[in-house]
Amino acid sequence: MKEISINVGEIQFGYAKRYFEEFIDARPKFYELIDKVQTPTLLIDLDGVKAKYIQARYHMPDVNIFYAVKANDHIDILRALSDLGAGFEVASSEELQKVMSLNVRPEKVISSNPVKPLDFIDYAYSVGVKRFAVDSFSEVDKIARVAPRARVYVRITVPNEGSEWPLSKKFGVDVDTALDILEYAKDRGLIPIGLTFHVGSQCNNLRNWFIAIKRSAQLWENAKRKGIKLLVLNMGGGIPVRYMQESLRIEDVAYYVKGLLRKYFPTPPYELQMEPGRGIVGDQGLMVVSVLGKAKRDDENWLYIDTGVFNGLAEALGGIRYPTYLKKEGELKEWVIGGVSCDSMDVIAKNVFLPEPEVGDRLFLLSTGAYTTVYGANFNGFPPPRVICL
Ligand SMILES: *Cc1c(COP(=O)(O)O)cnc(C)c1O
Repeated sequence: MKEISINVGEIQFGYAKRYFEEFIDARPKFYELIDKVQTPTLLIDLDGVKAKYIQARYHMPDVNIFYAVKANDHIDILRALSDLGAGFEVASSEELQKVMSLNVRPEKVISSNPVKPLDFIDYAYSVGVKRFAVDSFSEVDKIARVAPRARVYVRITVPNEGSEWPLSKKFGVDVDTALDILEYAKDRGLIPIGLTFHVGSQCNNLRNWFIAIKRSAQLWENAKRKGIKLLVLNMGGGIPVRYMQESLRIEDVAYYVKGLLRKYFPTPPYELQMEPGRGIVGDQGLMVVSVLGKAKRDDENWLYIDTGVFNGLAEALGGIRYPTYLKKEGELKEWVIGGVSCDSMDVIAKNVFLPEPEVGDRLFLLSTGAYTTVYGANFNGFPPPRVICL
């Protein structure tokens, strides 16, 4: 037994080490900072973010990309993407204001959250954002009230199996209800333009795309028969990034999706859209944290760091595991990593293999670019990690 667990540790730590070294070697501008910045800090590689967007464009030239702002709304990230001509997917007035502060044209902004605050719809429409997702009759009513000529696209449910951050139960309707909603929107004076789905965030299961696109084609066809000609197929987010394992890459998803589109949409939709968030920023962030303390509790070795699940590592609660590296050699031990707060839920990971750290040592958490600092609260008086984009 012992031997097996040592091997697991070596594989795990070896993977984190290789990932860290590759990441740093490709980013000389990070060399000095990682040992000097105050902790906790999230470092974001803006060139890397841009490269991801360019890859997405390259592999899906016919798809308009709307970056999902919620993944990381740092203004430098938004600026870098807007400089490249990206569109943005926003859900709140604050996100929209940030995007508008960069002089992004409102036609480049969509809102795909199917249930939106009324004042946000009102504000968005007033600045020229015209495209909103819906998945209920009541949302159609809301939009018709404050955004009378808005274009709406309906969210359908698709399976989220194999996504590490499933979203399917909260939003979306079946294909038949979707058509009813589109017809209802038309009756209310809105312009039904298309449909959307989300295969689940961190989706490593290509089958979800298969079912999603097949179902989309079905709705597309049904709508046509009812005299509603749809124009926009929005394929949501879901492009994964590597965490403790390699993941599908943008090009893998792109080639698979393009194949599906050829089969199920022999006449291509007028506009194809995607809204990647994690896939653009997730693996372009490195979080530098410090070890605050160590303890042995029963058989477990505990290690406490200076941020936690309430300050930026919330996804750890849902099972996301960040590759974690410590610049040391030596025998590997198994650790539980606890967060900075006094809350007993504030545990970031178990079964983490690291050489023995000392208080004050730095840990490097890879793939922390998406859904980290944006989730961070000031719980217990600990602010989210500062963010440095370079
Ligand atoms: C969160 C979200 C996205 C982005 O999802 P990722 O998995 O990060 O790519 C896209 N569209 C909508 C509507 C979302 O809510």
